[in-house]
Amino acid sequence: MKITEKVEGKRKTFTEVVDVVCDICKKSTRDQGDMNFEYAELAATWGFYSKKDCEQHNCHMCETCYDKIRAYIHSIGGVVQTTDYSPGCHGPISVPDYPDE
Ligand SMILES: [Zn+2]
Repeated sequence: MKITEKVEGKRKTFTEVVDVVCDICKKSTRDQGDMNFEYAELAATWGFYSKKDCEQHNCHMCETCYDKIRAYIHSIGGVVQTTDYSPGCHGPISVPDYPDE
């Protein structure tokens, strides 16, 4: 869950994200360097022909909880696509993330 606060600017008020809390373990996802939030987001928007017509679902997860969810996806035969976007690579590489053997 994103925690927001209203911030008064010079000309207008805007909303700022001050924390992103894991919706599973309720811990902050702020990184150890206190610089960023490290989290995964599960989001779904359901349309007319689904059983959840007009519902939007959203869940923020810390890295630990995300790893548990990813392990569950692997356990039921699913695949999580992984892309390495680090500098110095030869460009984005997408590979299926199969469970460790
Ligand atoms: Zn968590």
